[in-house]
Amino acid sequence: MAEKYVLAIDQGTTSSRAIIFDHGGQIVATGQKEHEQIFPRAGWVEHNAIEIWDNVRSVVADALSKASLNHHDLAAVGITNQRETTLVWDKTTGEPAYNAIVWQDTRTAKIVDDLGGDEGQDKYKARVGLPLATYFAGPKVKWILDNVEGARQKAEAGDLVMGTMDSWVLWNLTGGVDGGLHYTDVTNASRTMLMDLKTLSWDEEIASDMTIPMSMLPEIRSSAEVYGEGRAKGLLPGVPISGILGDQQAATFGQACFEVGMAKNTYGTGNFMLLNTGTEIVPSKNGLLTTVCYKIGDKDAIYALEGSIAVTGSLVQWLRDNLKMFSSAPEVEELAATVEDNGGAYFVPAFSGLFAPYWKSTARGALVGLTRYVNRGHIARAVLEATAFQTREVLDAMEADSGVKLAELKVDGGMTGNEMLMQFQADMLGVDVVRPKVAETTALGAAYAAGIAVGFWEGEQDVIDNWAEDKRWTPNMDDGDQQRLYRNWKKAVTRTFDWVD
Ligand code: ADP
Repeated sequence: MAEKYVLAIDQGTTSSRAIIFDHGGQIVATGQKEHEQIFPRAGWVEHNAIEIWDNVRSVVADALSKASLNHHDLAAVGITNQRETTLVWDKTTGEPAYNAIVWQDTRTAKIVDDLGGDEGQDKYKARVGLPLATYFAGPKVKWILDNVEGARQKAEAGDLVMGTMDSWVLWNLTGGVDGGLHYTDVTNASRTMLMDLKTLSWDEEIASDMTIPMSMLPEIRSSAEVYGEGRAKGLLPGVPISGILGDQQAATFGQACFEVGMAKNTYGTGNFMLLNTGTEIVPSKNGLLTTVCYKIGDKDAIYALEGSIAVTGSLVQWLRDNLKMFSSAPEVEELAATVEDNGGAYFVPAFSGLFAPYWKSTARGALVGLTRYVNRGHIARAVLEATAFQTREVLDAMEADSGVKLAELKVDGGMTGNEMLMQFQADMLGVDVVRPKVAETTALGAAYAAGIAVGFWEGEQDVIDNWAEDKRWTPNMDDGDQQRLYRNWKKAVTRTFDWVD
Protein backbone atom coordinates (compact mmCIF):
# COMPACT_ATOMS: atom_id res chain seq x y z
CA MET A 1 0.00 0.00 0.00
CA ALA A 2 1.25 3.50 -0.82
CA GLU A 3 2.53 5.59 2.06
CA LYS A 4 -0.10 7.84 3.62
CA TYR A 5 0.13 11.29 5.18
CA VAL A 6 -1.89 13.49 7.48
CA LEU A 7 -2.83 17.07 6.66
CA ALA A 8 -3.20 19.73 9.32
CA ILE A 9 -5.06 22.96 8.63
CA ASP A 10 -3.84 25.68 11.01
CA GLN A 11 -6.14 28.67 10.83
CA GLY A 12 -4.03 31.15 12.83
CA THR A 13 -4.36 34.78 13.85
CA THR A 14 -2.07 36.19 11.16
CA SER A 15 -2.15 33.44 8.56
CA SER A 16 -3.66 30.14 7.53
CA ARG A 17 -1.34 27.21 6.99
CA ALA A 18 -1.71 23.72 5.59
CA ILE A 19 1.03 21.31 6.59
CA ILE A 20 1.41 17.73 5.44
CA PHE A 21 3.12 15.35 7.88
CA ASP A 22 4.50 11.87 7.33
CA HIS A 23 4.26 8.96 9.77
CA GLY A 24 7.43 10.08 11.54
CA GLY A 25 5.82 13.45 12.32
CA GLN A 26 8.11 15.23 9.85
CA ILE A 27 6.93 18.06 7.61
CA VAL A 28 6.55 17.07 3.94
CA ALA A 29 5.12 20.34 2.58
CA THR A 30 3.60 23.60 3.76
CA GLY A 31 1.25 26.16 2.25
CA GLN A 32 0.77 29.49 4.01
CA LYS A 33 -1.12 32.70 3.37
CA GLU A 34 -1.60 35.79 5.53
CA HIS A 35 -4.96 37.49 5.83
CA GLU A 36 -5.84 41.09 6.46
CA GLN A 37 -5.95 42.41 10.02
CA ILE A 38 -8.85 44.83 10.13
CA PHE A 39 -8.72 47.56 12.80
CA PRO A 40 -11.93 49.61 12.39
CA ARG A 41 -11.45 51.49 15.69
CA ALA A 42 -9.02 51.56 18.59
CA GLY A 43 -9.33 48.23 20.40
CA TRP A 44 -11.30 46.51 17.62
CA VAL A 45 -9.76 43.66 15.59
CA GLU A 46 -11.61 41.79 12.84
CA HIS A 47 -10.97 39.19 10.14
CA ASN A 48 -12.85 38.62 6.91
CA ALA A 49 -14.11 35.02 7.21
CA ILE A 50 -14.63 34.65 3.46
CA GLU A 51 -11.01 35.66 2.84
CA ILE A 52 -9.93 33.13 5.47
CA TRP A 53 -11.90 30.29 3.89
CA ASP A 54 -10.47 31.19 0.45
CA ASN A 55 -6.99 31.15 1.97
CA VAL A 56 -7.58 27.78 3.62
CA ARG A 57 -8.56 26.30 0.28
CA SER A 58 -5.60 27.81 -1.48
CA VAL A 59 -3.01 26.73 1.12
CA VAL A 60 -4.35 23.15 1.13
CA ALA A 61 -4.06 23.01 -2.67
CA ASP A 62 -0.60 24.54 -2.46
CA ALA A 63 0.69 22.07 0.15
CA LEU A 64 -0.65 19.08 -1.82
CA SER A 65 0.87 20.37 -5.01
CA LYS A 66 4.27 21.06 -3.43
CA ALA A 67 4.30 17.52 -2.04
CA SER A 68 3.09 16.08 -5.38
CA LEU A 69 0.27 14.38 -3.52
CA ASN A 70 -3.48 14.33 -3.89
CA HIS A 71 -6.33 13.70 -1.50
CA HIS A 72 -6.05 9.90 -1.95
CA ASP A 73 -2.69 10.09 -0.19
CA LEU A 74 -4.21 11.57 2.97
CA ALA A 75 -5.24 9.29 5.84
CA ALA A 76 -6.89 12.11 7.76
CA VAL A 77 -7.25 15.87 8.18
CA GLY A 78 -6.91 17.74 11.47
CA ILE A 79 -8.01 21.31 12.14
CA THR A 80 -6.43 23.72 14.59
CA ASN A 81 -7.29 27.36 14.95
CA GLN A 82 -6.84 30.73 16.59
CA ARG A 83 -9.11 30.36 19.59
CA GLU A 84 -12.00 32.57 20.73
CA THR A 85 -12.18 34.43 17.40
CA THR A 86 -15.88 34.30 16.72
CA LEU A 87 -18.05 34.21 13.65
CA VAL A 88 -21.80 34.36 13.20
CA TRP A 89 -23.02 33.18 9.80
CA ASP A 90 -26.20 32.32 7.98
CA LYS A 91 -26.34 28.57 7.46
CA THR A 92 -28.81 28.94 4.58
CA THR A 93 -26.63 31.30 2.51
CA GLY A 94 -23.15 30.77 3.94
CA GLU A 95 -22.82 34.54 4.43
CA PRO A 96 -21.18 35.86 7.58
CA ALA A 97 -23.45 38.27 9.49
CA TYR A 98 -20.37 40.32 10.40
CA ASN A 99 -16.58 39.99 10.21
CA ALA A 100 -15.06 37.49 12.63
CA ILE A 101 -14.35 39.30 15.90
CA VAL A 102 -10.80 38.43 16.88
CA TRP A 103 -9.73 37.27 20.33
CA GLN A 104 -7.70 40.47 20.92
CA ASP A 105 -10.74 42.68 20.34
CA THR A 106 -11.90 44.69 23.38
CA ARG A 107 -15.29 45.98 22.17
CA THR A 108 -17.18 43.72 24.60
CA ALA A 109 -15.76 45.48 27.68
CA LYS A 110 -19.13 46.91 28.68
CA ILE A 111 -21.06 43.72 27.95
CA VAL A 112 -18.62 41.80 30.09
CA ASP A 113 -18.84 44.33 32.90
CA ASP A 114 -22.64 44.29 32.86
CA LEU A 115 -22.73 40.49 32.85
CA GLY A 116 -20.61 40.41 35.99
CA GLY A 117 -22.88 42.86 37.81
CA ASP A 118 -22.51 42.72 41.58
CA GLU A 119 -20.90 39.30 41.42
CA GLY A 120 -18.02 40.66 39.36
CA GLN A 121 -15.49 39.14 37.05
CA ASP A 122 -15.51 35.64 38.52
CA LYS A 123 -19.27 35.10 38.30
CA TYR A 124 -19.03 32.07 36.00
CA LYS A 125 -15.50 30.97 36.84
CA ALA A 126 -16.42 27.89 38.89
CA ARG A 127 -18.45 26.55 35.97
CA VAL A 128 -16.43 27.58 32.92
CA GLY A 129 -12.93 28.10 34.32
CA LEU A 130 -12.69 31.64 32.93
CA PRO A 131 -13.05 35.14 34.32
CA LEU A 132 -15.38 37.53 32.50
CA ALA A 133 -13.08 39.22 29.98
CA THR A 134 -13.27 40.57 26.46
CA TYR A 135 -11.03 37.69 25.30
CA PHE A 136 -13.71 34.98 25.19
CA ALA A 137 -16.22 34.10 22.46
CA GLY A 138 -19.69 34.23 24.08
CA PRO A 139 -19.88 38.00 24.66
CA LYS A 140 -18.67 38.58 21.08
CA VAL A 141 -21.77 36.73 19.84
CA LYS A 142 -23.94 38.92 22.03
CA TRP A 143 -22.30 42.01 20.55
CA ILE A 144 -23.11 40.86 17.01
CA LEU A 145 -26.73 40.04 17.91
CA ASP A 146 -27.13 43.41 19.63
CA ASN A 147 -25.43 45.51 16.96
CA VAL A 148 -25.92 43.98 13.52
CA GLU A 149 -29.27 44.93 12.04
CA GLY A 150 -31.64 42.00 11.73
CA ALA A 151 -29.19 39.55 13.30
CA ARG A 152 -31.22 38.78 16.40
CA GLN A 153 -34.40 37.98 14.44
CA LYS A 154 -32.48 35.72 12.07
CA ALA A 155 -30.78 34.01 14.99
CA GLU A 156 -34.10 33.44 16.71
CA ALA A 157 -35.53 32.06 13.47
CA GLY A 158 -32.70 29.52 13.49
CA ASP A 159 -30.88 30.82 10.40
CA LEU A 160 -27.80 32.23 12.09
CA VAL A 161 -25.27 30.00 13.79
CA MET A 162 -22.09 30.82 15.67
CA GLY A 163 -18.73 29.18 15.74
CA THR A 164 -15.07 29.65 16.43
CA MET A 165 -12.83 29.30 13.38
CA ASP A 166 -12.62 25.50 13.70
CA SER A 167 -16.39 25.34 13.19
CA TRP A 168 -16.25 27.66 10.19
CA VAL A 169 -13.53 25.59 8.52
CA LEU A 170 -15.24 22.26 9.32
CA TRP A 171 -18.64 23.49 8.12
CA ASN A 172 -17.17 24.66 4.83
CA LEU A 173 -15.00 21.57 4.32
CA THR A 174 -17.92 19.21 4.86
CA GLY A 175 -20.48 20.85 2.61
CA GLY A 176 -21.33 24.38 3.74
CA VAL A 177 -24.93 25.24 2.83
CA ASP A 178 -25.32 21.69 1.48
CA GLY A 179 -25.30 20.04 4.88
CA GLY A 180 -21.97 21.15 6.37
CA LEU A 181 -21.34 19.82 9.87
CA HIS A 182 -21.81 22.35 12.65
CA TYR A 183 -19.51 20.99 15.35
CA THR A 184 -16.77 22.24 17.60
CA ASP A 185 -14.45 20.36 19.93
CA VAL A 186 -14.22 20.52 23.72
CA THR A 187 -11.07 22.67 23.69
CA ASN A 188 -12.58 25.39 21.52
CA ALA A 189 -15.88 25.19 23.39
CA SER A 190 -13.99 25.72 26.64
CA ARG A 191 -13.04 29.24 25.40
CA THR A 192 -16.56 30.49 24.83
CA MET A 193 -17.55 30.95 28.53
CA LEU A 194 -20.57 28.87 27.56
CA MET A 195 -19.38 25.32 28.30
CA ASP A 196 -19.53 23.66 31.67
CA LEU A 197 -16.08 22.19 32.29
CA LYS A 198 -17.39 19.16 34.19
CA THR A 199 -20.23 18.07 31.93
CA LEU A 200 -18.59 19.30 28.69
CA SER A 201 -21.97 20.57 27.55
CA TRP A 202 -23.40 24.05 26.95
CA ASP A 203 -24.58 25.88 30.04
CA GLU A 204 -28.08 27.08 29.13
CA GLU A 205 -28.21 29.60 31.93
CA ILE A 206 -25.06 31.41 30.81
CA ALA A 207 -26.22 31.33 27.18
CA SER A 208 -29.47 32.88 28.35
CA ASP A 209 -27.62 35.56 30.37
CA MET A 210 -25.74 36.39 27.16
CA THR A 211 -29.02 36.29 25.17
CA ILE A 212 -27.61 33.69 22.78
CA PRO A 213 -30.21 31.24 21.38
CA MET A 214 -29.12 27.64 21.99
CA SER A 215 -29.88 26.83 18.34
CA MET A 216 -26.86 28.94 17.33
CA LEU A 217 -24.36 26.77 19.18
CA PRO A 218 -22.42 23.95 17.50
CA GLU A 219 -22.50 20.39 18.79
CA ILE A 220 -19.58 19.73 21.14
CA ARG A 221 -17.42 16.75 20.12
CA SER A 222 -14.14 15.27 21.34
CA SER A 223 -10.80 16.42 19.89
CA ALA A 224 -10.09 13.15 18.10
CA GLU A 225 -12.87 11.24 16.33
CA VAL A 226 -14.12 11.02 12.76
CA TYR A 227 -16.51 13.97 12.48
CA GLY A 228 -17.20 13.43 8.81
CA GLU A 229 -15.41 13.68 5.49
CA GLY A 230 -14.53 16.30 2.94
CA ARG A 231 -17.47 17.16 0.65
CA ALA A 232 -17.69 15.17 -2.56
CA LYS A 233 -17.15 18.13 -4.89
CA GLY A 234 -14.64 19.87 -2.65
CA LEU A 235 -10.94 19.96 -2.11
CA LEU A 236 -10.64 16.86 0.03
CA PRO A 237 -13.40 14.56 -1.18
CA GLY A 238 -13.97 11.59 1.09
CA VAL A 239 -10.98 12.29 3.35
CA PRO A 240 -11.85 11.77 7.05
CA ILE A 241 -11.76 14.93 9.11
CA SER A 242 -10.90 13.58 12.50
CA GLY A 243 -9.11 16.05 14.75
CA ILE A 244 -9.94 19.48 16.13
CA LEU A 245 -7.94 21.31 18.79
CA GLY A 246 -7.63 24.99 19.60
CA ASP A 247 -4.12 26.11 18.62
CA GLN A 248 -2.65 26.18 22.12
CA GLN A 249 -4.07 22.83 23.07
CA ALA A 250 -2.81 21.46 19.75
CA ALA A 251 0.69 22.70 20.54
CA THR A 252 0.50 21.08 23.99
CA PHE A 253 -0.45 17.82 22.26
CA GLY A 254 2.27 18.20 19.63
CA GLN A 255 4.82 18.85 22.39
CA ALA A 256 3.82 15.51 23.95
CA CYS A 257 2.81 17.09 27.28
CA PHE A 258 0.70 14.08 28.25
CA GLU A 259 1.70 13.76 31.89
CA VAL A 260 0.41 15.78 34.81
CA GLY A 261 2.86 18.63 35.45
CA MET A 262 4.20 18.88 31.88
CA ALA A 263 3.98 22.33 30.32
CA LYS A 264 4.69 24.11 27.07
CA ASN A 265 4.85 27.77 26.14
CA THR A 266 4.08 29.02 22.63
CA TYR A 267 5.57 32.33 21.45
CA GLY A 268 3.43 33.64 18.59
CA THR A 269 1.21 36.70 18.27
CA GLY A 270 0.67 36.28 22.00
CA ASN A 271 2.11 33.75 24.44
CA PHE A 272 0.24 30.83 25.89
CA MET A 273 1.56 28.51 28.57
CA LEU A 274 -0.42 25.35 29.31
CA LEU A 275 0.19 22.94 32.16
CA ASN A 276 -1.39 19.49 31.99
CA THR A 277 -3.40 18.79 35.17
CA GLY A 278 -4.75 15.42 34.01
CA THR A 279 -8.39 14.57 34.68
CA GLU A 280 -8.47 17.08 37.54
CA ILE A 281 -10.13 20.47 37.04
CA VAL A 282 -7.80 22.79 38.98
CA PRO A 283 -9.35 26.17 39.78
CA SER A 284 -6.89 29.07 39.68
CA LYS A 285 -6.34 31.46 42.55
CA ASN A 286 -3.61 33.32 40.73
CA GLY A 287 -5.13 34.69 37.54
CA LEU A 288 -4.84 31.65 35.29
CA LEU A 289 -7.55 29.98 33.24
CA THR A 290 -8.83 26.45 33.68
CA THR A 291 -9.45 24.91 30.31
CA VAL A 292 -9.83 21.60 28.48
CA CYS A 293 -6.47 20.38 27.21
CA TYR A 294 -7.76 17.58 24.95
CA LYS A 295 -10.12 14.65 24.81
CA ILE A 296 -9.35 11.62 22.68
CA GLY A 297 -12.60 10.00 21.51
CA ASP A 298 -14.47 8.38 24.42
CA LYS A 299 -11.58 8.69 26.89
CA ASP A 300 -11.80 11.11 29.82
CA ALA A 301 -11.11 14.75 29.12
CA ILE A 302 -7.69 16.03 30.17
CA TYR A 303 -7.59 19.54 31.63
CA ALA A 304 -4.99 22.29 31.82
CA LEU A 305 -4.15 25.48 33.61
CA GLU A 306 -3.36 28.22 31.15
CA GLY A 307 -1.56 31.53 31.30
CA SER A 308 -2.52 33.64 28.30
CA ILE A 309 -0.56 36.76 27.34
CA ALA A 310 -2.21 38.89 24.68
CA VAL A 311 0.78 40.67 23.18
CA THR A 312 4.27 39.22 22.63
CA GLY A 313 5.21 38.62 18.96
CA SER A 314 2.63 41.19 17.90
CA LEU A 315 4.67 43.82 19.76
CA VAL A 316 7.55 43.00 17.42
CA GLN A 317 5.12 43.39 14.51
CA TRP A 318 4.03 46.72 15.90
CA LEU A 319 7.63 47.92 16.01
CA ARG A 320 7.98 46.78 12.40
CA ASP A 321 4.66 48.08 10.99
CA ASN A 322 3.70 51.08 13.11
CA LEU A 323 7.16 52.45 14.01
CA LYS A 324 8.96 51.09 10.90
CA MET A 325 11.99 50.25 13.02
CA PHE A 326 12.93 47.32 10.75
CA SER A 327 11.42 45.46 7.83
CA SER A 328 11.18 41.91 9.15
CA ALA A 329 10.53 40.53 12.65
CA PRO A 330 13.82 38.61 13.07
CA GLU A 331 15.76 41.91 12.63
CA VAL A 332 14.64 42.92 16.10
CA GLU A 333 17.41 40.68 17.43
CA GLU A 334 20.15 42.50 15.49
CA LEU A 335 18.86 45.83 16.71
CA ALA A 336 18.67 44.60 20.30
CA ALA A 337 22.22 43.27 20.01
CA THR A 338 23.54 46.81 19.36
CA VAL A 339 23.21 47.53 23.10
CA GLU A 340 24.33 45.80 26.31
CA ASP A 341 21.03 45.93 28.18
CA ASN A 342 17.64 47.67 28.22
CA GLY A 343 19.16 50.98 29.31
CA GLY A 344 16.48 51.26 32.01
CA ALA A 345 13.53 51.03 29.58
CA TYR A 346 10.55 48.72 30.16
CA PHE A 347 7.77 48.22 27.62
CA VAL A 348 4.46 46.87 28.93
CA PRO A 349 2.42 45.98 25.83
CA ALA A 350 -1.06 46.17 27.37
CA PHE A 351 -2.54 46.92 23.93
CA SER A 352 -5.59 44.71 24.55
CA GLY A 353 -5.61 45.32 28.27
CA LEU A 354 -3.67 42.83 30.38
CA PHE A 355 -4.46 39.13 30.29
CA ALA A 356 -2.91 36.64 32.76
CA PRO A 357 -2.38 37.02 35.60
CA TYR A 358 -4.08 40.46 35.83
CA TRP A 359 -7.18 40.37 33.60
CA LYS A 360 -7.49 44.13 33.42
CA SER A 361 -9.27 45.24 30.27
CA THR A 362 -8.82 48.90 31.17
CA ALA A 363 -5.01 48.74 31.11
CA ARG A 364 -3.17 50.19 28.09
CA GLY A 365 0.43 49.97 26.94
CA ALA A 366 3.31 51.97 28.44
CA LEU A 367 7.00 52.50 27.76
CA VAL A 368 8.59 53.63 31.02
CA GLY A 369 12.00 54.36 32.49
CA LEU A 370 12.96 56.62 29.60
CA THR A 371 15.93 59.00 29.69
CA ARG A 372 17.84 60.72 26.88
CA TYR A 373 20.23 57.78 26.96
CA VAL A 374 17.62 55.37 25.59
CA ASN A 375 17.91 54.58 21.87
CA ARG A 376 16.30 52.25 19.30
CA GLY A 377 18.41 49.34 20.46
CA HIS A 378 17.23 49.68 24.05
CA ILE A 379 13.62 49.79 22.89
CA ALA A 380 14.13 46.65 20.80
CA ARG A 381 15.60 44.96 23.85
CA ALA A 382 12.76 46.13 26.09
CA VAL A 383 10.34 44.68 23.55
CA LEU A 384 11.98 41.25 23.66
CA GLU A 385 12.34 41.34 27.43
CA ALA A 386 8.62 42.13 27.81
CA THR A 387 7.83 38.67 26.47
CA ALA A 388 10.16 37.00 28.95
CA PHE A 389 8.93 39.03 31.94
CA GLN A 390 5.30 38.31 31.16
CA THR A 391 6.13 34.62 30.86
CA ARG A 392 7.84 34.70 34.26
CA GLU A 393 4.66 36.15 35.80
CA VAL A 394 2.62 33.34 34.29
CA LEU A 395 5.05 30.67 35.42
CA ASP A 396 5.01 32.04 38.98
CA ALA A 397 1.19 31.85 38.94
CA MET A 398 1.28 28.33 37.59
CA GLU A 399 3.64 27.08 40.26
CA ALA A 400 1.52 28.75 42.94
CA ASP A 401 -1.73 27.23 41.63
CA SER A 402 -0.49 23.73 40.94
CA GLY A 403 2.20 23.31 43.57
CA VAL A 404 4.32 21.85 40.76
CA LYS A 405 7.84 23.21 40.27
CA LEU A 406 8.68 23.02 36.60
CA ALA A 407 11.85 21.13 35.70
CA GLU A 408 12.10 22.66 32.24
CA LEU A 409 9.91 24.52 29.80
CA LYS A 410 9.16 23.23 26.30
CA VAL A 411 8.80 26.12 23.87
CA ASP A 412 7.64 26.65 20.29
CA GLY A 413 6.27 29.36 17.98
CA GLY A 414 7.75 32.05 15.73
CA MET A 415 9.62 33.95 18.43
CA THR A 416 11.60 30.90 19.56
CA GLY A 417 13.84 31.55 16.56
CA ASN A 418 15.17 34.48 18.58
CA GLU A 419 18.30 33.31 20.43
CA MET A 420 18.61 36.41 22.56
CA LEU A 421 15.05 36.11 23.78
CA MET A 422 15.36 32.40 24.54
CA GLN A 423 18.53 32.92 26.60
CA PHE A 424 16.94 35.82 28.47
CA GLN A 425 13.88 33.65 29.05
CA ALA A 426 15.93 30.88 30.64
CA ASP A 427 17.70 33.53 32.75
CA MET A 428 14.41 35.04 33.87
CA LEU A 429 12.78 31.69 34.72
CA GLY A 430 15.77 29.97 36.25
CA VAL A 431 14.93 26.74 34.38
CA ASP A 432 16.05 25.26 31.06
CA VAL A 433 14.13 26.28 27.99
CA VAL A 434 13.89 23.52 25.36
CA ARG A 435 12.86 23.76 21.71
CA PRO A 436 11.87 20.67 19.68
CA LYS A 437 13.12 19.85 16.16
CA VAL A 438 9.65 20.24 14.65
CA ALA A 439 8.77 23.78 15.72
CA GLU A 440 5.33 23.65 14.03
CA THR A 441 3.87 21.95 17.08
CA THR A 442 0.41 23.46 16.62
CA ALA A 443 -0.16 21.89 13.23
CA LEU A 444 1.62 18.75 14.39
CA GLY A 445 -0.70 18.37 17.38
CA ALA A 446 -3.78 18.63 15.18
CA ALA A 447 -2.29 16.12 12.77
CA TYR A 448 -1.60 13.68 15.63
CA ALA A 449 -5.16 14.01 16.97
CA ALA A 450 -6.59 13.35 13.50
CA GLY A 451 -4.17 10.50 12.81
CA ILE A 452 -4.84 8.82 16.15
CA ALA A 453 -8.60 8.92 15.50
CA VAL A 454 -8.21 6.91 12.28
CA GLY A 455 -5.51 4.55 13.58
CA PHE A 456 -2.71 6.09 11.46
CA TRP A 457 -0.90 6.52 14.78
CA GLU A 458 -1.66 4.19 17.65
CA GLY A 459 -1.77 6.78 20.38
CA GLU A 460 0.19 9.21 22.51
CA GLN A 461 3.26 6.96 22.64
CA ASP A 462 3.89 7.62 18.93
CA VAL A 463 3.88 11.35 19.65
CA ILE A 464 6.37 10.86 22.49
CA ASP A 465 8.61 8.66 20.33
CA ASN A 466 8.63 11.19 17.49
CA TRP A 467 9.44 14.20 19.70
CA ALA A 468 13.10 15.25 19.47
CA GLU A 469 15.05 18.06 21.12
CA ASP A 470 16.62 20.67 18.88
CA LYS A 471 18.10 23.21 21.28
CA ARG A 472 18.32 23.92 25.00
CA TRP A 473 19.06 27.22 26.79
CA THR A 474 20.33 27.08 30.37
CA PRO A 475 20.01 29.91 32.92
CA ASN A 476 23.16 31.98 33.17
CA MET A 477 22.40 35.24 34.96
CA ASP A 478 23.47 36.62 38.28
CA ASP A 479 20.61 36.31 40.82
CA GLY A 480 20.87 39.96 41.84
CA ASP A 481 20.52 41.14 38.23
CA GLN A 482 17.58 38.82 37.67
CA GLN A 483 15.73 40.06 40.72
CA ARG A 484 16.37 43.72 39.94
CA LEU A 485 15.09 43.42 36.36
CA TYR A 486 11.98 41.56 37.45
CA ARG A 487 11.26 44.01 40.27
CA ASN A 488 11.45 46.90 37.80
CA TRP A 489 9.15 45.07 35.41
CA LYS A 490 6.56 44.58 38.16
CA LYS A 491 6.71 48.29 38.88
CA ALA A 492 6.30 49.13 35.18
CA VAL A 493 3.20 46.93 34.92
CA THR A 494 1.40 48.87 37.64
CA ARG A 495 1.81 52.04 35.54
CA THR A 496 -0.60 50.66 32.90
CA PHE A 497 -3.57 49.94 35.20
CA ASP A 498 -6.93 51.74 34.90
CA TRP A 499 -5.90 53.82 31.91
CA VAL A 500 -9.28 53.63 30.15
CA ASP A 501 -12.23 55.00 32.10
P1 ADP B 1 0.94 32.96 15.06
O1 ADP B 1 0.82 31.49 14.91
O2 ADP B 1 0.35 33.51 16.34
O3 ADP B 1 0.48 33.73 13.85
P2 ADP B 1 3.84 32.52 14.82
O4 ADP B 1 4.15 31.38 15.71
O5 ADP B 1 3.89 32.33 13.34
O6 ADP B 1 2.51 33.28 15.23
O7 ADP B 1 4.89 33.66 15.21
C1 ADP B 1 4.86 34.88 14.57
C2 ADP B 1 5.15 35.97 15.56
O8 ADP B 1 6.50 35.85 16.03
C3 ADP B 1 5.00 37.33 14.95
O9 ADP B 1 4.26 38.14 15.84
C4 ADP B 1 6.43 37.86 14.79
O10 ADP B 1 6.48 39.24 15.08
C5 ADP B 1 7.19 37.07 15.83
N1 ADP B 1 8.55 36.70 15.39
C6 ADP B 1 8.88 35.89 14.36
N2 ADP B 1 10.22 35.75 14.28
C7 ADP B 1 10.75 36.47 15.31
C8 ADP B 1 12.07 36.71 15.78
N3 ADP B 1 13.14 36.15 15.22
N4 ADP B 1 12.21 37.52 16.87
C9 ADP B 1 11.15 38.05 17.48
N5 ADP B 1 9.88 37.86 17.08
C10 ADP B 1 9.68 37.07 16.01
